[in-house]
Parts: sequence; structure tokens; C-alpha cells
Amino acid sequence: MKLFDVYPLYDVEPVNAYGCIVEDKDGIEYLDLYGGHGVISIGHSHPYYIKKVKEQLEKISFYSNAVQNNMQLQLAEKLGRLSGYEDYQLFLCNSGAEANENALKLASFYTDKSRVIAFDNAFHGRTSAAVAATDNKKINAPLNQQQQVTFLPLNDINSVKSELQKGDVCAIIIEPIQGVGGLDQGTSSFFKELEVLCHEFGAVLILDEVQSGYGRSGKFFAHQYHGITPDIISIAKGMGNGFPIGGIMIAPHIKPSYGLLGTTFGGNHLACAAALGVLDVIEKEDLINNAEKIGTYFFSKASELPGIKKIKGKGLMLGVEFDFEVSDLRKKLIYEQHIFTGGAMNKKLLRILPPLTAGTKEIDQFIKALQNVLVLEKA
Ligand code: PLP
Repeated sequence: MKLFDVYPLYDVEPVNAYGCIVEDKDGIEYLDLYGGHGVISIGHSHPYYIKKVKEQLEKISFYSNAVQNNMQLQLAEKLGRLSGYEDYQLFLCNSGAEANENALKLASFYTDKSRVIAFDNAFHGRTSAAVAATDNKKINAPLNQQQQVTFLPLNDINSVKSELQKGDVCAIIIEPIQGVGGLDQGTSSFFKELEVLCHEFGAVLILDEVQSGYGRSGKFFAHQYHGITPDIISIAKGMGNGFPIGGIMIAPHIKPSYGLLGTTFGGNHLACAAALGVLDVIEKEDLINNAEKIGTYFFSKASELPGIKKIKGKGLMLGVEFDFEVSDLRKKLIYEQHIFTGGAMNKKLLRILPPLTAGTKEIDQFIKALQNVLVLEKA
């Protein structure tokens, strides 16, 4: 059987990985500044993480959600404490799209309304509801769009207000820093006004922290830069350091009832062990402060690069915008400089999502490689 060919592949076959390094089948080492769409939070093959996952695998890896699962309770306790949301409730699933799908569904049940407000260039995933809230229609035509979505420009609070006034909106879903869209951000006053308007019009404020969360921005959650308190926060990606796990954190005023949400694999023992391992390492190694510090270092170094238009992002969710499309640049970085990077809907933006363990050494290597490629390109 052939693979269903739906995305282009680089001609590199990773077989080993440790820290910020990925090694291919020919023994070539690559600096991994992308972590397979931002999932590598504590570095590849972290020894403590491996130990935790292995130990769990030898005990029990999975049993259905019809029985007590102490691992989920431990994860909820630790995640609540580290993120500052101890009074929230955790529902676990397997991916970012699934997290958003559950968030939107819950908002609809809670408000008894169904229209959703999302923002231009948003990316919330590829299941039906999450896709509907993703403004990338060319590749994401929703098949089963039960929830109608209205896309508005970021930072245009008057448009948000006039849509809410129609009285049929169940939720506003927004990324604190747009990932796939290209690292644009709402202002603090925009986020604060969104919160006020959601309260005024009885809509649920969903912060999609699938990419920006778990310390990546230099705070546990990127929305914490804006002093707001969302009703639902969706999480995934870095949560399991590559082990598939996602979830939603739900404010106490949204009450659970049996049958409201459900899952087969969500929150299984092995996934929880991986997620607990990640949180332990984030805490012990002070990785959130590291992300903040190394992000600031990146901004100072990247400003020395020739021909860049803009440096974007926060913490270790970063990008450099050029006045040309970056697909060739990315190919040169991977094949000539042996560095993995990412792209965006904005084709002129080169993105990086390094492990939160990255240091100045990795940033220096990246800047030097970019300089090499850019200088050669000009010559
Ligand atoms: N939300 C955001 C902000 C994302 O960046 C992504 C994936 O890139 C998703 C949701 C979807 O996550 P997943 O691919 O795990 O379904």
C-alpha cells in the first residue's frame, strides 16, 4: 500500500534524536529548531522523560475511562499549579484539533447558541469544528460545518461587538500568538476588551494555546501577558513532548454532566505519564524562564541579520520575515546548513519553535547559518 500523498516531504529520514539534535539515517546531525510542528518542548529523548514513560509502560499503558485513573488526577493537580489555574477542570483528549472541537462543542452546550467568532489567518486544526474555525479555506474546506463561523480582523474590537450584539454567538476562539498564520498577536487592550464583551454578551472566551502554551512564550500561557482569564484554554503539542495528548482547561462556572464530552484514548495512563514527565522537567529545569531569556537573546541577534523586514513572536515561538518567499531559504537551511525550520501561511516568514531547553549556542548557530545563506544568496 502507498502512503496517501497529502503533504510534501523533505528528503531527510531521522532515526535518532537527543536534545536539540536530530540524526538522520546517514549519521548527519541536524539542529532541530522546529520540533515537528512545535511538539518538542523539553528536548528529544530527555532521560527523565524516557524513564517516566518506560516505567509507566511496564505497569499499565492504557485502560478505558470507565475506571479510576489516578494519573489524570496527578496531571490535573500539577498542571493547575504550574499554570496558575488550580480551580479549573481538565478534560483530556489526543490532539489540538480535538481540544478545540471539544471547546467549541462545550461553548455551544453552555450558551445554547452556535455561531463562533474566529479571526483572519487563525489556525485551530483539521477536524470538522476546528477546521470551520480555521481561516485557511483553500486546504481546509469543512465537510460538516455545524457551527457557523464568522472571521474578523485581529484587533478590530468594534466588529467583534457588532457581531456579539446579534445575540447568537456561543464563543470567541483566538490564538494569543497566531502560529501557522504567521505570529501576529492581538494587543493587550484587544484581549481585555474581548473578555469584557464575552461577559457582557454571554459568550465563551476560548484561548487556543495549542502552540503558544506550555511555556513556549516565556509564560506558562501566552495570554498571561495580557492579564485575562479565559473560560476555556485548549492545549496539546508540547504537552507530551511528542506523545499525542491534548486537552481543555475549563473554568469552574462551566459545570460538567455525564455524557457532555467523551473519549476512548484521551487521558490514557501512558499519555499522562508523558505529560507529567514534561511538567516535571519544565519545573525542575526552569524552562519557562529559559524560553523568555533565549527569546530576548534571539531578538537582539536577529536584528543584526541583513535584509530582514521584521522579527516576530515571543519566547521560543519566533519568526523572521523577509521581503521574499522563504521556501528556498528553508531548503538551503536544511540541506546545506543542517537546520530544521518552519514556514507559515505568510510565505515570507521563516518560523522556529525550538525545544524550551535551547540556549544561546543554538541561536548563534542558527544566526550564523542564516548569515551564510543570505550572504551567498546575495553574491
Ligand atoms: N491550534 C493551533 C494554534 C495549532 O497551531 C494547531 C496545529 O498546528 C492546532 C490547533 C491543531 O493541532 P493538531 O495538529 O494537534 O490537531
